[in-house]
Amino acid sequence: MANTKRVLAMAAHPDDVEFLCAGTLALLRSKGWEVHICTLTAGDCGSEVLPPEEICAIRRVEAANSAAVLGGAFHCLECRDGLIAYDPETILKSVALVRKVRPNLVLAPSPRDYMIDHEVSSALVRNAAFMAGVPNFKTEGYPSFRPVPHLYYADPLDLKDIYGTPVVPTTLVDIGTAMETKKQMLACHASQRDWLLKQHGIDEYINAMIEMSRRRGELLGAQYAEGFRQHLGHAYPQDNLLAEELGDLVHRL
Ligand SMILES: [Zn+2]
Repeated sequence: MANTKRVLAMAAHPDDVEFLCAGTLALLRSKGWEVHICTLTAGDCGSEVLPPEEICAIRRVEAANSAAVLGGAFHCLECRDGLIAYDPETILKSVALVRKVRPNLVLAPSPRDYMIDHEVSSALVRNAAFMAGVPNFKTEGYPSFRPVPHLYYADPLDLKDIYGTPVVPTTLVDIGTAMETKKQMLACHASQRDWLLKQHGIDEYINAMIEMSRRRGELLGAQYAEGFRQHLGHAYPQDNLLAEELGDLVHRL
């Protein structure tokens, strides 16, 4: 349908989106939105036993399966873990992806997070949402489009910045009714349960996501929530599109 609204959730690695904003994606899907998930990398460092090309092949399938839970599409910009750079090549790829999807709404990683890949991805997504509308900024295959999409930053994965200061979201989405779908999407990333246990000491992949959602739910007296901060800089839309679309499920702090 020509008037179907599209949401694009972009993040550094496969499974970041599932931790941070899959509940909100599921709610938008239930309102008829088309869902796109894009990762900068295919997660080549996400294994201690498989070589990069093998773990990437597995993780691309996992990420596509997760997007498919919402009838959505998965895209990957094929950067490498730990090497996501704010450089011309990656900027051009990210703008081209936004132009391909033509989203009404973009969900980006937090500008400050425990891992620099997440922070560079945040800057890339922010820039791509803006530059996708600039006609003289040429990318192969896809023309510029306007208006600039609404842009929200998801929470950092630890819900705090690198100095330990809690990050306070300005928009909270009650995802109680979407929690089972969020779990189902995260569970698609089966290869990561063992990896996270070794790397981060998180011994239950799904439970870590549930706990994070529970802590956000506490902020509004709901069981589970996801937090966002809207980008309100010059040229970006100022109205709260999430609130307009999801009504009573959205709370502003
Ligand atoms: Zn990540």
